[in-house]
Amino acid sequence: MPAAFIGHGSPTNALEHNVYTEAWRELGASMPRPTAILAISAHWYVNAIAVTAMPKPRTIYDFSGFPPELSRFSYPVTGSPDLAHRVTELLHGRDVIKDDSQWGIDHGTWSVLCHVFPNADIPVVQLSIDARLSPQEHVELGKMLAPLRDEGVFIVGSGNVVHHLGRISWGREGFGEPWAIEFDQAVKDLAEGANPGRVIEALDRPDANLSVPTPEHFLPVAYIAGLAEAADVPLRTFVAGCEMGSLSMRSFVLAA
Ligand code: ZN
Repeated sequence: MPAAFIGHGSPTNALEHNVYTEAWRELGASMPRPTAILAISAHWYVNAIAVTAMPKPRTIYDFSGFPPELSRFSYPVTGSPDLAHRVTELLHGRDVIKDDSQWGIDHGTWSVLCHVFPNADIPVVQLSIDARLSPQEHVELGKMLAPLRDEGVFIVGSGNVVHHLGRISWGREGFGEPWAIEFDQAVKDLAEGANPGRVIEALDRPDANLSVPTPEHFLPVAYIAGLAEAADVPLRTFVAGCEMGSLSMRSFVLAA
């Protein structure tokens, strides 16, 4: 099964049809139907490794200041206690919390999956990003999840390679600040190189504080890079672009 990192950008992408959402749709249409989906979203960044283990996860509207129809958006997937359990098995030696009441499906997940799998008929489990871990440890966790791909599970990381909300130029479609374009290119070069796990080295660049002022949107890349490392296959960009100056929409796929 393929795996992917998707640059999600604004939550309004859930309602739109643009070059990014069309690429996400094509990705879903091009792959065999997964048995389940494991999503690693920038928006579940906590001091723990946790998986959603409830059979019916709630939809979470974790944003404000967007059109009201976005707060009514429905992507009514079921969960998968079986997949949640399998993740705890694969991450053996780690404390993994089975969450059956707190989190659910957040907008990092549903705003992209509503395009990849528009029928909302594949169970979804979310895996949190543990804020206490180093970038390399996130790559290692990604590697540990590799068997899921052979079990028909689609693993998706949802974040943004460049994500600096304080530097947004509202309304400037298709625009990237020069520093954002440069950082985005550096990440591309590392992810598409022979050792995709090295993508986290971009965080050591002197300009990383501009593109990655906080790590949560970048770290989903580390998991997909770990999977690529485990498969010994580089990542490949399937859509890219900068928006509003300080967002990179670059998305990577790891071929089956
Ligand atoms: Zn986000």
